[in-house]
Amino acid sequence: MKQHENHPTLMMIFGATGDLAKRKLFPSLYKLFEKGKLTDQFAVIGVARRPLTNEEFQQSIKDSVKTAIEKEDRIEEFASHFYYHSHDVTDSASYAVLKKMANDLDEQYHLHGNRIFYLAMAPEFFGTIALHLKEDGLTDVKGYKRLVIEKPFGHDLESAKELNKQIRTAFSEKEIYRIDHYLGKEMVQNIEVIRFANAIFEPLWNNRYISNIQVTSSEILGVEERGRYYENSGALRDMVQNHMLQMVALLAMEPPIRLTTEEIRSEKVKVLRALRSIDGEDVKEFFVRGQYGAGTIDGHDVPGYREEPMVDAHSNTETFVAGKLLIDNFRWAGVPFYIRTGKRMEAKSTKIIIQFKDIPMNLYYRPEEPLNPNLLVIHIQPEEGITLHLNAKKARQNEVATPIKLNYANKGMNGYNTPESYEKLLYDCMRGDATNFTHWDEVALSWSFTDKISHVWENTVEEHFPNYAAGTMGPKCADELLEKDGFFWWPISHMAVEPC
Ligand code: NAD
Repeated sequence: MKQHENHPTLMMIFGATGDLAKRKLFPSLYKLFEKGKLTDQFAVIGVARRPLTNEEFQQSIKDSVKTAIEKEDRIEEFASHFYYHSHDVTDSASYAVLKKMANDLDEQYHLHGNRIFYLAMAPEFFGTIALHLKEDGLTDVKGYKRLVIEKPFGHDLESAKELNKQIRTAFSEKEIYRIDHYLGKEMVQNIEVIRFANAIFEPLWNNRYISNIQVTSSEILGVEERGRYYENSGALRDMVQNHMLQMVALLAMEPPIRLTTEEIRSEKVKVLRALRSIDGEDVKEFFVRGQYGAGTIDGHDVPGYREEPMVDAHSNTETFVAGKLLIDNFRWAGVPFYIRTGKRMEAKSTKIIIQFKDIPMNLYYRPEEPLNPNLLVIHIQPEEGITLHLNAKKARQNEVATPIKLNYANKGMNGYNTPESYEKLLYDCMRGDATNFTHWDEVALSWSFTDKISHVWENTVEEHFPNYAAGTMGPKCADELLEKDGFFWWPISHMAVEPC
């Protein structure tokens, strides 16, 4: 086994019987353990309301790992590092027990007082937990203390500020790791490398050569059992405020002077500051919203959003958003960044398409076969890869150009897809690398951008909802958004990356 640096850690997972812990956190921790990135010097305390013995908790860890991973040879050894504390996070008395347990485990496993507090539960508890951790002395440690929090970080700028104020009473900004799991995705992390390590791209990465950029993140699933949460959120808050704007920031930022957390974040912040604010009447011009109606997916009839459990029969919540973003700086003036995201769409796919401008004179022009523009496609999920769309000579026909594709598929190269986001992000947190977590400044700027749009949408009932059928690529108005500018959404279904 490869030797990795040792990062002794006590991790407390609040919400340890929840969906996120079971589906993502435990399997990711196991993978780190198996790869030797997590050594014997670790212990996990699971915290949740349900009464469970340590043995029952360890059994649930084994079950969740076995469900997610085929090979789990070291599962018994791994599970022995897990302990459980039944605890209502609003009950002050119980934090003293937790503290004693943490101190004992720290000694037993030689953890040097290093603590990660992972809040895998509803955000309304974040402030209370942070306050208790400080007041009851759980954060008085010799080593580091870090707080990991899940999205959503607030509901709007005001609530995000309030939440930030609460957690800042116990943790400094440097100690707060706000998860945006898109930032843990291999191909999102690859955006910077593609841009800054290739002489053929970086000189062209500006408004002289790029005509528009399209970022699509579509899901086949509907809201499932999350109707109550989603009714208060919608696609704008759930996807645009965080994941979509983060991808835009990485695509648009200036090269950082160094690859450090501070330098990269500072360049991303500049992009978010340069985003043209869309307000009032302009919202209609730049953004469209959709809500899915009943439709067919894989040959099965599925209900519309308003028929889903815990959803208002007259809901005004958007399950789809498309928007045109403009970045008012020297590099990007005049280049639209189109984003779209939605539920119950035709395909599960996250892709970035960079469309280059047409060449000045087309020597190969044939009205029956117009030349395609060059496209660079970054496949984020489910496939991972890069495709470059070029034009080349058609075999055996002089002076006739035909589209060709250069493909790089991660799957084809490595035989398996790259580690799960959570695996990478948990490891980054243990190593103290916050680059792929969102800084408060990014969160605040993103909320102030989306709040203006939410404000308009919340105060106008969309009479055309539902306006797209489940199993399609969204409402017609999303196509019109690009048509007005002379563009169209490149069809996702024709963009698949073929393994090499
Ligand atoms: P969940 O409802 O499945 O689990 C919640 C957990 O919190 C349970 O373990 C429950 O026992 C515990 N809990 C609730 N109230 C408590 C209290 N008063 N005291 C102690 N424990 C209490 O939720 P989830 O899906 O695991 O999501 C957790 C967080 O992660 C949420 O903020 C969610 O928005 C976020 N998130 C989840 C996912 C996902 O895939 N599930 C993805 C992204 C973000």
